[in-house]
Amino acid sequence: MTVSAPAGVYDDVYVGGQWGRSSSITRIDVVDPATEEPYAQVPDGGAQDIDRAVSAARAAFPRWSETPIPERAAILRAFADELQRCGESLSVVLTRENGSPVAETSGMGAHAAAQLRYFAGLAAAVEDEVRPFPNGPMESIVRKLPAGVAGLITPWNYPLALVMTKLAPALMAGCTTVIKPAPETPLHVRPLVEAAAAAGIPAGVINMVTGGGAAGAMLVEHPGVDKIAFTGSTVTGRAIGERCGRLLRPVTLELGGKSAAVLLDDADLDAFAKSVVRLTMRNTGQTCYVCSRVLAPAPRYDEIVDLIVDAVRAAPIGDPFDPATVFGPVVSARQRERIDGYVEIGQQEGARLVLGGGRPAGLDRGWFVNPAVFRDVTPDMRIAQEEIFGPVLSVLPYTDVDDAIRIANDSRYGLAGSVFGADEDRALEVARRIETGNIGINFYSSNHAAPFAGRKDSGVGVEFGPEGLAAYQVFQSVHRRKAS
Ligand code: NAD
Repeated sequence: MTVSAPAGVYDDVYVGGQWGRSSSITRIDVVDPATEEPYAQVPDGGAQDIDRAVSAARAAFPRWSETPIPERAAILRAFADELQRCGESLSVVLTRENGSPVAETSGMGAHAAAQLRYFAGLAAAVEDEVRPFPNGPMESIVRKLPAGVAGLITPWNYPLALVMTKLAPALMAGCTTVIKPAPETPLHVRPLVEAAAAAGIPAGVINMVTGGGAAGAMLVEHPGVDKIAFTGSTVTGRAIGERCGRLLRPVTLELGGKSAAVLLDDADLDAFAKSVVRLTMRNTGQTCYVCSRVLAPAPRYDEIVDLIVDAVRAAPIGDPFDPATVFGPVVSARQRERIDGYVEIGQQEGARLVLGGGRPAGLDRGWFVNPAVFRDVTPDMRIAQEEIFGPVLSVLPYTDVDDAIRIANDSRYGLAGSVFGADEDRALEVARRIETGNIGINFYSSNHAAPFAGRKDSGVGVEFGPEGLAAYQVFQSVHRRKAS
């Protein structure tokens, strides 16, 4: 299957394996962040759309949940092959949706495929297990049953990857799904569901309704939904968590972050300089796990600020379709205003803006910003505490390792981070003391085989790994006497 960049007016939602007319009369404009031009429209899905999608998912559940595990795994692998095949055209769709440079999006088809293949390999996490009683001649069959219909609500920053983070384990567990993508990025789901159908995923197993917060809230509340998986802001996640709490509906929340990179005094600064842009401002800073705070030992503070400034200044800004571009536009006018606001706040608070702010020369159209670096930042400042979700970096000095750990932990968030140091044992010990769900040593990358689980205001629950698959399961322990 090949994919062309969707453009035009769509009035449909994907329900029961077919594109059907939305019952909503309101539409959402999809705007190219690099040109500010609207190029597509999608329905702002309403209650009837959500209801139809949930009903289709419920109708498909018995058959999909009873499909033998090896068969489900084979279908997931075929789905992976389909996505891998259309990686290049998916990249075009993704870059046009949110302005992520093609250097980011060109690997996204393969990344989504890798997630599917990983979860397809977790048959053991889905099969029944027999566990003996600690004493006595009895045993329990532990049945790992699919949770049911899962509502998947995603943000705009890595739209395909974050849908797949939910969809792959949900499908492997035997759940059926309703996807509600972010209103800024509703188009990549079209090729996604078509690839799924081409791979043999039965009608109704994946449904999709475009829309904004209201459509998301309807999905959360729908009585036919058994599980909600959400990635997005902490404010929205808290509202969804409250609602799911009242409904006693299982929910996974992957939320915001303000992670810290701690440079120990023996850190290899050349290696750090090579990775700093990706580490701190990946995807034009619109990445939940970037280290938007760098903690530098006071004696090397000036040297570290200088090398960061040099590295960020050298990274090309511009057309996201240019393979050399590192910084594309940010996703929306609203996001750019937010970033501008924090650049202003940082200066008012007394931090020193040593790079960036304002607009890049020659880029009059599109939501471009100059990546910003602040020095002389103190831990109490808003730019050190609040998630900006743009290319704005705060560099803070620390006196000793305990001070660095104290500053790193002085945050309402606990998503990710990194520790740089030549002595790996020491770096690992520092990492252990940082209150965060995942952390890298001398680099950062997430790994879909290892749990990704924000602490504090960064979330509740786990994605990735067998632990992430378990979020789509319910368990039944059947106790019996062992056959003699
Ligand atoms: P957002 O919270 O505004 O929206 C996310 C999704 O929720 C969208 O689909 C939106 O339409 C929907 N939504 C909004 N209100 C809702 C409601 N009341 N009920 C149900 N759904 C609702 O987030 P965003 O601006 O799209 O994304 C940026 C945020 O996502 C950042 O805070 C970022 O840190 C976070 N994020 C977290 C992770 C992670 O894994 N922890 C990954 C990526 C992004």
